[in-house]
Amino acid sequence: MTTTFMITFFGFGLAFVPFILLFLIGGVDLKHKLGGASAILIFWLIASVGLTFESEGKESAWNGGYCECGQHWELEAVAKSRHGSTTKYYVCPNCYAEITQ
Ligand SMILES: [Zn+2]
Repeated sequence: MTTTFMITFFGFGLAFVPFILLFLIGGVDLKHKLGGASAILIFWLIASVGLTFESEGKESAWNGGYCECGQHWELEAVAKSRHGSTTKYYVCPNCYAEITQ
Protein backbone atom coordinates (compact mmCIF):
# COMPACT_ATOMS: atom_id res chain seq x y z
CA MET A 1 0.00 0.00 0.00
CA THR A 2 2.65 2.53 1.06
CA THR A 3 5.01 1.50 -1.75
CA THR A 4 2.22 1.68 -4.33
CA PHE A 5 1.33 5.12 -3.03
CA MET A 6 4.93 6.37 -3.24
CA ILE A 7 5.32 5.11 -6.82
CA THR A 8 1.97 6.60 -7.84
CA PHE A 9 2.66 9.87 -6.03
CA PHE A 10 6.05 10.50 -7.61
CA GLY A 11 5.30 9.00 -11.01
CA PHE A 12 2.03 10.85 -11.32
CA GLY A 13 3.49 13.97 -9.71
CA LEU A 14 5.81 14.69 -12.61
CA ALA A 15 2.72 15.68 -14.61
CA PHE A 16 1.85 18.31 -11.99
CA VAL A 17 5.24 19.94 -11.61
CA PRO A 18 4.77 22.25 -14.66
CA PHE A 19 1.45 23.48 -13.24
CA ILE A 20 3.00 24.23 -9.88
CA LEU A 21 5.81 26.13 -11.59
CA LEU A 22 3.24 27.96 -13.70
CA PHE A 23 1.52 29.23 -10.56
CA LEU A 24 4.80 30.05 -8.80
CA ILE A 25 6.09 32.03 -11.78
CA GLY A 26 2.83 33.41 -13.15
CA GLY A 27 1.00 34.30 -9.92
CA VAL A 28 0.27 38.04 -9.52
CA ASP A 29 1.44 38.12 -5.89
CA LEU A 30 2.77 35.79 -3.20
CA LYS A 31 -0.74 34.93 -2.01
CA HIS A 32 -1.79 33.77 -5.49
CA LYS A 33 1.50 31.97 -6.10
CA LEU A 34 1.26 29.93 -2.88
CA GLY A 35 -2.51 29.51 -3.13
CA GLY A 36 -2.34 28.14 -6.67
CA ALA A 37 0.63 25.89 -5.95
CA SER A 38 -0.94 24.42 -2.80
CA ALA A 39 -4.27 23.83 -4.58
CA ILE A 40 -2.38 21.76 -7.17
CA LEU A 41 -0.51 19.93 -4.39
CA ILE A 42 -3.77 19.01 -2.64
CA PHE A 43 -5.29 17.78 -5.91
CA TRP A 44 -2.12 15.81 -6.60
CA LEU A 45 -2.32 14.16 -3.17
CA ILE A 46 -6.02 13.26 -3.51
CA ALA A 47 -5.52 11.89 -7.05
CA SER A 48 -2.56 9.75 -5.88
CA VAL A 49 -4.58 8.29 -3.01
CA GLY A 50 -7.43 7.53 -5.43
CA LEU A 51 -5.15 5.82 -7.93
CA THR A 52 -3.48 3.82 -5.16
CA PHE A 53 -6.83 2.47 -3.98
CA GLU A 54 -7.82 1.66 -7.54
CA SER A 55 -4.68 -0.38 -8.21
CA GLU A 56 -5.02 -2.14 -4.83
CA GLY A 57 -8.58 -3.02 -5.79
CA LYS A 58 -7.48 -4.65 -9.04
CA GLU A 59 -4.93 -6.67 -7.11
CA SER A 60 -7.62 -8.06 -4.82
CA ALA A 61 -9.94 -8.85 -7.78
CA TRP A 62 -7.21 -11.08 -9.17
CA ASN A 63 -7.08 -12.78 -5.76
CA GLY A 64 -4.12 -15.02 -6.57
CA GLY A 65 -5.81 -16.36 -9.71
CA TYR A 66 -9.16 -17.26 -8.16
CA CYS A 67 -12.60 -15.66 -8.44
CA GLU A 68 -14.57 -14.71 -5.31
CA CYS A 69 -16.63 -17.89 -5.78
CA GLY A 70 -13.48 -20.06 -5.68
CA GLN A 71 -13.20 -20.85 -9.40
CA HIS A 72 -9.93 -20.40 -11.22
CA TRP A 73 -9.95 -17.45 -13.66
CA GLU A 74 -10.01 -18.57 -17.29
CA LEU A 75 -8.12 -16.54 -19.88
CA GLU A 76 -10.69 -15.32 -22.39
CA ALA A 77 -8.86 -12.85 -24.62
CA VAL A 78 -5.63 -10.91 -24.97
CA ALA A 79 -5.59 -7.38 -26.36
CA LYS A 80 -2.41 -5.67 -27.43
CA SER A 81 -2.41 -1.88 -27.59
CA ARG A 82 -0.41 0.14 -30.08
CA HIS A 83 1.84 1.23 -27.21
CA GLY A 84 2.90 -2.37 -26.68
CA SER A 85 1.09 -2.97 -23.39
CA THR A 86 -1.02 -6.11 -23.08
CA THR A 87 -4.42 -6.42 -21.44
CA LYS A 88 -5.62 -9.90 -20.55
CA TYR A 89 -9.32 -10.58 -20.07
CA TYR A 90 -10.24 -13.31 -17.64
CA VAL A 91 -13.68 -14.76 -17.06
CA CYS A 92 -14.95 -16.97 -14.26
CA PRO A 93 -16.54 -20.12 -15.78
CA ASN A 94 -18.78 -20.46 -12.74
CA CYS A 95 -20.34 -17.02 -12.13
CA TYR A 96 -19.19 -15.24 -15.35
CA ALA A 97 -17.46 -12.44 -13.46
CA GLU A 98 -14.85 -10.67 -15.60
CA ILE A 99 -11.56 -9.01 -14.74
CA THR A 100 -8.67 -7.52 -16.68
CA GLN A 101 -5.00 -7.79 -15.87
ZN1 LIG B 1 -16.79 -16.84 -9.98
